Amino acid sequence: MSFSTLGLGAPLLKAIQEQGYSEPTPIQKQAIPVILSKRDVLAGAQTGTGKTAGFTLPLLQMLSEKKVTDHRVRALILTPTRELAAQVGESVELYGKHLPFRSSIIFGGVNINSQIRQLKAGVDIVIATPGRLLDHANQKNIDLSKVEFLILDEADRMLDMGFIHDIKKILSILPKNRQNLLFSATFSDEIKRLADGLLNTPALIEVAKRNTTSQNVKQIIHPVDKERKKELLTHLITTEKWKQVLVFTRTKHGANKLTGQLEKDGITAAAIHGNKSQNARTKALADFKNGEVRVLVATDIAARGIDIDQLPHVVNFELPNIAEDYVHRIGRTGRAGNGGQAVSLVCVDEHEYLKSIEKLIKQEIPKHTFKEFTPDPFIKAEPIQQRGNSRNNNSRGNSNGRNKRASSSNRRGR
Ligand code: AMP
Repeated sequence: MSFSTLGLGAPLLKAIQEQGYSEPTPIQKQAIPVILSKRDVLAGAQTGTGKTAGFTLPLLQMLSEKKVTDHRVRALILTPTRELAAQVGESVELYGKHLPFRSSIIFGGVNINSQIRQLKAGVDIVIATPGRLLDHANQKNIDLSKVEFLILDEADRMLDMGFIHDIKKILSILPKNRQNLLFSATFSDEIKRLADGLLNTPALIEVAKRNTTSQNVKQIIHPVDKERKKELLTHLITTEKWKQVLVFTRTKHGANKLTGQLEKDGITAAAIHGNKSQNARTKALADFKNGEVRVLVATDIAARGIDIDQLPHVVNFELPNIAEDYVHRIGRTGRAGNGGQAVSLVCVDEHEYLKSIEKLIKQEIPKHTFKEFTPDPFIKAEPIQQRGNSRNNNSRGNSNGRNKRASSSNRRGR
């Protein structure tokens, strides 16, 4: 099946061709015609499935079908993180390059003035994180009264990050008559409630079964003592000659520490997490993508939405305490038909986490112990400290500018 049968116009087909896509992905095949039929959509799709083009292409098509001469906000795309907003924004620019639309990416943690200037000059498509968008709405920098399309991308993560109230506030200022698309990797009861309130008899689209892992990803567990994980990681990177590896830690502190240790071993590394400035995060990601940095060490929230084509290796330096995060993490590799490898370094403290992950994905992950890294059988499991965890403490909001907002709202006594 080719893109030309899906109902997209020449400017979009040209952009797709320039991107080198020969065939739509399964989510695109399903979503594009349904969205073009003006229906609301509830879609289950993870990053890596081509979901962004799955909603961006039909959105641009629909926008282009109506003659509107001025630039006012007709489409609003909400994302949980700045990185995802930036990436979706890039896709909008890329696929819309032969169309006359203007788009603006709105997120917290950066100077607000250039965003205000863009909004005042007039834009057709806004890609935003909820907190900063509300700031603009409250300051009357943005007029949302002409919005025809609302897209919630990675809605499950938005709820995880506590954005439900912001989302509700945003919904209350949008026109009632609009098309809504909700994308989510998982379907909790909370997501279902949000979908029930938001979507009008939606078409259901699901490409990868929820909480399943891609067949393209080869998963492996290496049992190892906690104190020797760093040594084993260095061993793997050097002996297997890994050129580009994304490593997950549970905490921001852990990410910094590991980055420093790898650098000491002569392995170029950068950390990406919520305490880093936006500029530092953008630079780390760019250096990683262009090969200047071999290892990117990330926490779950910071890594969410990172889009790197054909990432060959993902390492769980520490297993996540939320089993679903394992699925998200390893979804960074083995994309679009390319094989990938997901390696987890697991110490005795993490056996319970491993059990819940294997239960969730309904499979036992193969294990391989390196002789020289055989765990000491006398080491007893100790409870894992949750302090400083990027998901369980207040500072997680730093990754999206929410904390600042929350504290200033508190000062205002709201
Ligand atoms: P996403 O799931 O939206 O994060 O997309 C994952 C990656 O797939 C992105 O890097 C896209 O550029 C790429 N992609 C999207 N659609 C296609 C397609 N039809 N053929 C090949 N690659 C694609």
